[in-house]
Amino acid sequence: MAIDSDLASRLAMQYEPTTYRRRIAGHDVIIHCHHYNARLQRTLEGARGIDGKGLIVGAAETVFADQLARALRPGDDEARRWAVAEQLYRHLGFGRIDLSQIGADVVTADSSHFVEGWLAGLGESSDNVCSFTAGYVQGAVHAVTGAAVRVREVECMARGAERCRFEVDRGERPPVAPNRKDPAIPAPREPGAGWLRSPQVDEQAIIDAVVGMPMVGDEAGLIPAFSVYLASMPADFYNRICIGFVEAMRGLGRDKTAIRLLISDAEHCGMNTFRGIMHSPEWDGLIAPMVRDRSDALHAIIAISNALGWGDWHVTAHTPRSLALESRYGYEAVGYREYRGLAATPQCAMLTGVAAGVMELVYGEGTVEERYGTFNAREERCVSCGEPSCNFAVEQVE
Ligand SMILES: [Zn+2]
Ligand SMILES: [Zn+2]
Repeated sequence: MAIDSDLASRLAMQYEPTTYRRRIAGHDVIIHCHHYNARLQRTLEGARGIDGKGLIVGAAETVFADQLARALRPGDDEARRWAVAEQLYRHLGFGRIDLSQIGADVVTADSSHFVEGWLAGLGESSDNVCSFTAGYVQGAVHAVTGAAVRVREVECMARGAERCRFEVDRGERPPVAPNRKDPAIPAPREPGAGWLRSPQVDEQAIIDAVVGMPMVGDEAGLIPAFSVYLASMPADFYNRICIGFVEAMRGLGRDKTAIRLLISDAEHCGMNTFRGIMHSPEWDGLIAPMVRDRSDALHAIIAISNALGWGDWHVTAHTPRSLALESRYGYEAVGYREYRGLAATPQCAMLTGVAAGVMELVYGEGTVEERYGTFNAREERCVSCGEPSCNFAVEQVE
């Protein structure tokens, strides 16, 4: 199905320069790679004693029911609504689902961001891995028809099937949870003070170039770029699964472990994604001429991450062995406030892990695994706790 201009305008990405947010169909979306998304899934689903799979299915159902509802128009007939559901999935980079047999309670998928991520980083799987897709389809059924259904994957490409196959169960179940959020803290309007810049690195030119790149799914619904597969994931999805994971683990007395695992996934992600970016033609063409030393590379990486929607963050102090960053409107902290109110402890595991990962990438040596853990990052203050900004301190491990 070719995307028509009406659908293209509904799904067009708007970039908000003052908050560094990317918005598609009313949702802030974050660009991450298949390594990160598959790792995060493994962290949740691999934790004993909690229902990690249920967290992923439930979050996807709630968030995509909401995002799809915002992409639909009152004049859409049912065929059009299913087409929008297929297209949003593809557009965001999650792969390709076929909803044409949904009336017979069958859905198939012949391309999948999560299967790619699982096979690339985690190897063959003994289980079906497409919990995310099952949740997406549940959300789509709700947005299109108003029904609450269960979707179960019965065959998966991660286990060698030719395509993933899902069955729809229309039996009794609880209603779809609404994506309820309280109005959050207002976004900062003025530029911050005390941010370090490199005279060589034109951060705005980097942001403009990356924002201008067409990061949308191809025919197969994938976004191959920088030697990884990217996807535009709603911030609400990340926030719902991460908050849910930490709370479920707290019930077992393991919430500190949960946060450590989330930080570790992001630390790997920061290295994988930016290693891909630093070896890409885009980097060679635009950024390499601005980079005279490693510190310039670090400033360029932070600018790119702002274009990807990661943080609205800025360098406030930097040596080859240490880094301090400030983020005023990161999606984790703002999301926590929206979903839960004030937090007792800092919540920004993704930014904490990436902060360590970028230092390991810029100043470390060897493979990703050899670099991992050579820098330690911690969040010292967090917007989720009522502070005006999140502050991260990274130091080389002695
Ligand atoms: Zn699958
Ligand atoms: Zn924070």
